[in-house]
Amino acid sequence: MSAPIIRSLSELRTLVTGWKSSGETVGVVPTMGALHQGHLSLVQAAKEGCDRVIITIFINPKQFNNPEDYENYPRTENDDARKLAPFGVDAVYVPDGPTMYPEGFATNVSVGGLTDLLCGAHRPGHFDGVATVVSKLFLQSQANRAYFGEKDFQQLQVVTRLARDLDIPIEVVGCPTIREEDGLAMSSRNLLLSDRARTWAPELNAAMEEMADELVMGGNIADLHAKAVARIERAGFTEVEYLDLRACDTLEELTAPTRPARLLAAAWLAGVRLIDNIAVG
Ligand code: AMP
Repeated sequence: MSAPIIRSLSELRTLVTGWKSSGETVGVVPTMGALHQGHLSLVQAAKEGCDRVIITIFINPKQFNNPEDYENYPRTENDDARKLAPFGVDAVYVPDGPTMYPEGFATNVSVGGLTDLLCGAHRPGHFDGVATVVSKLFLQSQANRAYFGEKDFQQLQVVTRLARDLDIPIEVVGCPTIREEDGLAMSSRNLLLSDRARTWAPELNAAMEEMADELVMGGNIADLHAKAVARIERAGFTEVEYLDLRACDTLEELTAPTRPARLLAAAWLAGVRLIDNIAVG
């Protein structure tokens, strides 16, 4: 059965108020559409954890630091509806620009510290855009739980922080990264890769896995970093923006996995920016 598509906030509010007054729990899965198995794994987790599930689809202009990237972002609403049909979600919330940012909209949510590094350092304004739209979606949906992918590990930390800092009564649930068989992390941006570039893309994850294994065996981080970057560039990537070992909780840089650690990377392949991260040890 296909889920009702809801475009206005008042309709969403009416639905959610009804559910909550009957004591039902509500889960929300925020997305920008172009749905793949990664998104659908979040929907599945929400279905298992909550009585009612809302998936939101909004390509948020505020989180694109590059207008061309926003224009090129895949838009596949009909396909998305078809993919969601088997899950029996209770609402697909698809607000338009003016619903999210009406004329005169002047508020910016900015999470300090965590957003100065990694993607935040390379995409000015990106995490303010994320934090602003996610705050709105939390408050609009009044959900009890929100589901996010570890694929965007820094984003997961940022939204967890903002919910805590602003006392938004929502539990942020992180879900594992879903990958293609060749290891490439699923991403809506993979649709933008040419067939040739798609064959090179898994080298990013392969190089990261190799580096993580060698770090666990006590390898020197500078040597391993140089080796991994060389491997990624040899595969056809034009630039490795970052490839860092970071503490899972604070994202501070580490030189060895002496505490729970993650390897995080962003790299450009044929004009497409890919990100990935994996646990180390
Ligand atoms: P996006 O549509 O790219 O904004 O992503 C919406 C949500 O899906 C975010 O919480 C992402 O972290 C999550 N997500 C995207 N790709 C994956 C993946 N491969 N595995 C798990 N979650 C993902």
